[in-house]
Amino acid sequence: MDEASRGADWGQSCGDNCFTLDGDGFTCSRVLDEPEVWRVELLMHDTFLPSVNAFVVRDGGETLVVDAGTSDDFNDTRLMRALLGLGVDPERTTLFCTHAHMDHAGLARELSEAGARVVISEGVLGDMRLLAVPAWRDEMVARMRAEGVGEAESVELADVIWDHAVNFEAEKIAFATVSSGDVLRCGRWELGVVPTPGHTPGHCALWEPHSRTAFLGDAVLFLCSTCIGFWREGEDPIGKQIATLSNLAEMGVEHAFMGHGLQEGGVSERCSANIAHHERRSARALAAIRETPGSTGYELVPAMGWHAPFDRWAETPALTRWFLVSESIAHLDHLVATGAVRREPDAAGVHRYFAAE
Ligand SMILES: [Zn+2]
Ligand SMILES: [Zn+2]
Repeated sequence: MDEASRGADWGQSCGDNCFTLDGDGFTCSRVLDEPEVWRVELLMHDTFLPSVNAFVVRDGGETLVVDAGTSDDFNDTRLMRALLGLGVDPERTTLFCTHAHMDHAGLARELSEAGARVVISEGVLGDMRLLAVPAWRDEMVARMRAEGVGEAESVELADVIWDHAVNFEAEKIAFATVSSGDVLRCGRWELGVVPTPGHTPGHCALWEPHSRTAFLGDAVLFLCSTCIGFWREGEDPIGKQIATLSNLAEMGVEHAFMGHGLQEGGVSERCSANIAHHERRSARALAAIRETPGSTGYELVPAMGWHAPFDRWAETPALTRWFLVSESIAHLDHLVATGAVRREPDAAGVHRYFAAE
């Protein structure tokens, strides 16, 4: 490929305030004027989600990048082309990652090496230390076995997911932390750090109150319901997510920028609908427990109303099975936490579920 054709596959106009990042349809486009926000769409791997967003906020020569997509052979080039095309000075750039998942923190190394300051919340650092370590993989295996998942499948499902979180300490990527309520500055704008636990324990959003603009990571999506997996036993990620969704519904968000897809309608309505969705699922789980008391978590999965091919379970991709099993367990945790259900280990140490009367 000569220089001319190499340059021709990016930086081409794709409408007003839009330029291409490659010849495959990935683009950088302006999505808001005040504050100035650009959406960089990057390739997403492994899941049914079509793409992952990085957002670039610019003001007064300063730049804030919210989330840095998955690292692969091409995404780092696409992100750098976006910054280059926008005339961003990496030395005057801050990267904020809403959570530690690979599709949001994967390109932190590239930005850091280009001179950007990397910032995460203390909550996200906690997630890195909890979720992006081999011990968490073993904990997931043990938890799934306790829910009645077979030995081989527990290992298979844990292995397919556990390294989807990034650990900046282990990877020696320099970073600073901020606390809940701290403010990140970008020119005239001040963006507050808002804890939004549910998708992960330490997930955080950014909130600019004057323009009512929120960068939400995976706290809520319009494409689908955010995946909520189990955390440690005794915790209630579904309960946390419902509380997060009701906080977001009350915040008066006008402009919402999510990790995947774009805003389609009101944030408040979307959050309320998503709360109802989780509550319906928990209600189905409770009904199934009433119908077959003493079931294991694994036995209850197909009764929770998932649109999934349970008749062809063995042929279903491991990642899909992981999402189904993990979110089902999270619903059982929610029913236990709210006192609707009792969890009793049998002689083999496998959890059995009973409705609390
Ligand atoms: Zn995520
Ligand atoms: Zn994501």
